[in-house]
Amino acid sequence: MVRFTVLASGSKGNSAVVVGGRTRILVDAGLSCRELFRRMRLAGEDPATLDAIVVTHEHQDHVNGLAVTARKLGIPVYFTEGTHRAWMRWLTPRRQMTYAQWLEQCRKQAAARQAEMDAEDGEGEPDEGDGVAGPSGSATVAEVAEPIHDSQVKDPTWLPAVEYFRAGEPFRIGDFSIHPFTIPHDAADPVGFVLEAEGVRLGVATDLGYVPPNVKAQLKGLDLLLLESNHDLEMLRDGPYPWSVKQRVLSRVGHLSNDAAAEFLEKEYDGRAAYVILAHLSESNNLPELARVAAERALQGRMSLLANQVLLAEQHQPLSSVCF
Ligand SMILES: [Zn+2]
Ligand SMILES: [Zn+2]
Repeated sequence: MVRFTVLASGSKGNSAVVVGGRTRILVDAGLSCRELFRRMRLAGEDPATLDAIVVTHEHQDHVNGLAVTARKLGIPVYFTEGTHRAWMRWLTPRRQMTYAQWLEQCRKQAAARQAEMDAEDGEGEPDEGDGVAGPSGSATVAEVAEPIHDSQVKDPTWLPAVEYFRAGEPFRIGDFSIHPFTIPHDAADPVGFVLEAEGVRLGVATDLGYVPPNVKAQLKGLDLLLLESNHDLEMLRDGPYPWSVKQRVLSRVGHLSNDAAAEFLEKEYDGRAAYVILAHLSESNNLPELARVAAERALQGRMSLLANQVLLAEQHQPLSSVCF
């Protein structure tokens, strides 16, 4: 069975859980770890069974609880290299480093951690997290509690394991095949995903200024489409945001409006998905009903109990799981 649950969606935090076969993946971790776990339990998902976190981009509403969640569960985080670097820059106050300097710093930190662990090997108590392994891959890490804690305090960017993927190059996590694709958005190397397991294809496309040809090509033959429907153009124009922020949202690397989402659904989308979930709705510049009406109008004639059911992802509570 394949199961998809939006835990949160919007500018205050984004995260979803996908389950397929024996594999469970968190897509983005934009709420605090505590809140992510609370919502997972509400939705009937056990946080302890997560296998990995995949990250779309480094904006805060997608990574807020990332480090704590990954450490607590001892699971790997999948990024593009650009997103990982940008995330680390965000967490590290020294901003003038070149990439070469940064690499050198990472090497030194890894060596220091290793030395620390070697020195204290055997003295620590068993760690509560299972499967925790440092970037060096040392087999002793999981048996030593204190050094992990220390390194976390010294290095806010420390993660149990980091895996890189590249947009356009599919990769696997357990029973999932994941197809990342580039999206136009003002982040270092932002991506959307098509996640596939048991022949079920789930598309995730939020945080994009418009729908370019490569995204149109990816969002075909889906069973579920999570699509951004961020703002109503008039509400944004007349709303409370400063002009510079309005410009950013409206730009080609900003966010998808209700109208733009509807235009995609009407003209480009193949109508094959059982569910279309509207996501990343702005609380200041949109109303759920406006987003819904625009999408349903665009899908007119193609909606039924089996096809194109329109759901709205929410900011403050998880959406009921969708199962295949
Ligand atoms: Zn973003
Ligand atoms: Zn976002």
